[in-house]
Amino acid sequence: MLNILKINLSSRSFFILQTRFKTKTHWAKLKKKAGPKHKALNHFDDFYGSVFGEQWPPMKEALLRRSKYVAVINNYGDAEETMKYLSNRGAHCLKDLMKIQQAFSNEYTPTETDSDTQPKSHTNIIDNYISKLQSDEVSEVYPKSDNVPEKIDLNDNFVKTDNKKVDEIVSVNRTLDQAIDDAEIDQSRIIEPSMGINSEVLYQYIPATKLKGLEEWVPESLHYSYYNSKDKDFPLIVEPETEFTFPEHLKVYTYEMNSDWSMFPEPKRCQTGVFNYYPMDCSSVLAVLALCLSPGDRLLDLCSAPGGKALVALQTLLPDIVVCNDVSISRSNRTERIFRDYLLDFGDNKWRERVLLSRVDGRIFTDDQGFDKVLVDVPCTTDRHSVNEDENNIFRPDRVKERLRIPELQTQLLVNALKLVKVGGAVVYSTCSLSPVQNDGVLHTALRHAFETHQIVAAVRDLSSSLRSLSSTLQLGSGPAKPRFGQLVVPSTAANFGPAYIARLVRVK
Ligand code: SAM
Repeated sequence: MLNILKINLSSRSFFILQTRFKTKTHWAKLKKKAGPKHKALNHFDDFYGSVFGEQWPPMKEALLRRSKYVAVINNYGDAEETMKYLSNRGAHCLKDLMKIQQAFSNEYTPTETDSDTQPKSHTNIIDNYISKLQSDEVSEVYPKSDNVPEKIDLNDNFVKTDNKKVDEIVSVNRTLDQAIDDAEIDQSRIIEPSMGINSEVLYQYIPATKLKGLEEWVPESLHYSYYNSKDKDFPLIVEPETEFTFPEHLKVYTYEMNSDWSMFPEPKRCQTGVFNYYPMDCSSVLAVLALCLSPGDRLLDLCSAPGGKALVALQTLLPDIVVCNDVSISRSNRTERIFRDYLLDFGDNKWRERVLLSRVDGRIFTDDQGFDKVLVDVPCTTDRHSVNEDENNIFRPDRVKERLRIPELQTQLLVNALKLVKVGGAVVYSTCSLSPVQNDGVLHTALRHAFETHQIVAAVRDLSSSLRSLSSTLQLGSGPAKPRFGQLVVPSTAANFGPAYIARLVRVK
């Protein structure tokens, strides 16, 4: 049984086997049902259902429908003509919509009852969820009849056999020092290397089947250990954003809420040979707006492929240098193709001299000069893709480890971004997931780590009031879906963009 669990502890494969024998349902049908996108949906029902409560079913409905997109006008094509063409087809300029909404909001003074209800504490919800997962994991590996080791330390997967209750599973959020201080060392199990005993001796202590199963085991709850809201001994600054403006040359067209997304025609080649507009999710435009680009900026896009957000940054005509890095060579090649399809050299403005493509692991990317702005659009559970497509799905059984380690990778990428940005510069962290673990959780862990390890301090800039004027275009999370640090674009059937999380940090030390 343990071997089945080992293949994928969190998948329901074991239970599916049982169900099959009980009900005699056709195997192919079951297999289809249990595909990665169904697994993703089950997982989200469980997790997001607990976190977002009654807001989750409408989000899920939107996620399963076709998404909406906006048109980013290509300044290197026939921009004026394209804008006229799209306006004639009923699309609106996003900047104008924001201005109108801003004017309306200025006239309208919200009353106390209008204001967002304070978000419920995610900490308690997620702590309870982690405890439940851990209990489930323990009882899956050690059914009640076995000699149950009731305490698991997720920091090192070391199984202890004391008799404390499962509820007392150690906190996953302790620092290494605290963990070492608190550790109860069982002297009888320490084996001196000088004794010349090989690892086989250890098998006398733990049954071989269990050792075999556990060495590959990454518990689901490890993923959640990145959610930690304890701010002790750590300078956490959250302040309102003051620099936000819509770049003069960025032109984005959208259709109103509830309107038919398919009204955009296919992008077409202009006389200059490049495409007239780039279709993309509105939340991707938001991530670039959150950078608050200035003329002459040196911009790094640490996980840039296939280059959508970098292209929007280039369309602002503001940055001097844009470094587009991505660890995947094939995806990086796609970035290059997209740039060739959308950018042109004219006069002194030669895009190939301003855009540098790099293909290294973002966790170890180094640079001598420092960047004014860094975008970290991290790999994540890509929620919309995960519930709609089986292909390249992160919920595939053979990608369990990769999925469970996503927050760790995201944290490392964000910490490196904080190292690469100049003091006074800004980092934008973004995901396309609703998960508070991958969003606020990773942001918080990275800020703590950057401070503890590199003495870097960055302030969280609250974009709430800057983005309020987008309320007629897309839906931002409120109540339990309002993050503590960033902004969450929530899919809704009226404005089916996202999901996306966007947080802006300004390095102060
Ligand atoms: N910013 C892109 C855009 O707007 O088109 C989308 C980025 S996508 C969400 C995440 C990217 O991170 C993927 O292209 C993936 O190849 C890249 N990636 C994954 N691990 C990485 C790492 N360790 N270093 C750099 N890039 C990484």
